[in-house]
Amino acid sequence: MEHRDFIEAHASAGVLNFRPSRVASRRGAGESNNRQGDEHLNNVIIIGSGCAGLTAAIYAGRANLKPVVIDGYEPGGQLSLTTMVENFPGFPDGILGPDLIENMRKQAQRFGAEFKSGAITDVDLSKRPFKITAGNDTYESLSLIIAAGATARLMGLESERKLIGYGVSTCATCDGYFFRGKDIAVVGGGDSAMEEANFLSRFASKVYLVHRRKEFRASKIMVDRARANEKIQFVTPVVVEDISDVSKGGVEYMTLRNTETNQTSKLDVQGVFVAIGHVPNTKAFHGKLDMDENGYLITHHGSQTKIPGVFAAGDVQDHHYKQAVTAAGSGCMAAMDAEKFLEAHPDR
Ligand code: NAP
Repeated sequence: MEHRDFIEAHASAGVLNFRPSRVASRRGAGESNNRQGDEHLNNVIIIGSGCAGLTAAIYAGRANLKPVVIDGYEPGGQLSLTTMVENFPGFPDGILGPDLIENMRKQAQRFGAEFKSGAITDVDLSKRPFKITAGNDTYESLSLIIAAGATARLMGLESERKLIGYGVSTCATCDGYFFRGKDIAVVGGGDSAMEEANFLSRFASKVYLVHRRKEFRASKIMVDRARANEKIQFVTPVVVEDISDVSKGGVEYMTLRNTETNQTSKLDVQGVFVAIGHVPNTKAFHGKLDMDENGYLITHHGSQTKIPGVFAAGDVQDHHYKQAVTAAGSGCMAAMDAEKFLEAHPDR
C-alpha cells in the first residue's frame, strides 16, 4: 500500500486521528456544526477562507470542534489570485495558488469544517456567545477566529485587474522569480515599493520605480538604498493611466502621465508590481478590537485579541511577513489557542 493510501485508509477509519481531545469528548458523533440542543451555537467560527482561515479550520476540525468557516468577499484570499506558488514548503515543483487553496479547503472539509458563503456585516463581541452577522444570516459562537486577510490596494485600472496573474502582481516575494532577465516596474513610493524594487532587482534586468509624486513616503534609508541600486531607475511624478496589452493576455508596456507636464509616455515593461499598500479587512471590528494606526488587529500571547475567546490569524494581524506559510502558521496557532480557551471556558 502506498504511504498516502495507508494514511487515507487509516484516517477514515479514525485510527490516525492522533490527538485525543478533551473538547472532543464533550461532543457526540454525528452532531451538526451547531452544538447539540442549541441550534445556532457553534464552538468556533472562522472568518475568512484564505491560507490562515483554512489552516485554522483544519486544526479546529481535527480537534473535533466542527468549525464553521465564513468565506468572505474573496473566498480563498490572496492565494486564489496568484499563479504559481514556489515557496510553500512541500511542493518541490510549485503549486498553483488556487490549487493550494482548493486542497486546503478539501482537507478542512475532510475533518468536518462547514463552509458558509457571505461576508461579515456586523459582529457583537460584547458578551459570549459572540454574534456574527453576514447579510441575512446570524451565527452564534463560543469562540471566534478572525482570518479575514488584507487586500492589496490596486490603482483601480481595468487593465490592472484583468492582468493580475498575467504580468501584474501584488507580491514580489511570490512572483519575482518569474521575471528573471526582464524589465519591470514597481508602482508606489512607500517602504514596500522600495523594498520590492530592491528585491526584484535580483531577478530583473531593470526595475523602474514609478511613483505619482517626487517626494516619497518611504523612509530615507530605503529610498537611498533604492537610489544606490544601479538596476533601479526612478520615474516620477507620474500616474499610471493604463497597462497594455489586455488583448494579448500579458504586460508589454505602461502608459504614464506626468503630473507636472500632463504629457503621456510609454514605458516598455514585461511586469508590473503594484506596491501601494494593503488594506486589512477589519472594518467590522473598528471600536471593538485593538488595531494599529493602519487598521491591523493587535494580537498578544500568540493569536489573542483583547477579548477572551476572540483570536486573529494571518494578514489581518500581520503587515510584516505577509507570506502564505506564515499565515498558515498563525492559523494553526489560533485554532490551538481557541481549543485551549474552549477547554477552559466550555460554556457561555
Ligand atoms: P504606504 O506607506 O501607505 O505607501 C503607499 C504608497 O503608495 C505611497 O507612496 C502612496 O503615494 C502610493 N499610493 C497609494 N495609493 C496609490 C494609488 N491609488 N496610485 C498610486 N500610488 C498610490 O504603504 P507601504 O509601502 O505598503 O507600507 C505600509 C507600512 O508598512 C508602512 O508603515 C511602512 O513603513 C511599513 N513597511 C516597512 C518596511 C520596512 O521597514 N522594511 C517595508 C515595507 C513596509 P503617496 O505617498 O503619494 O500617498
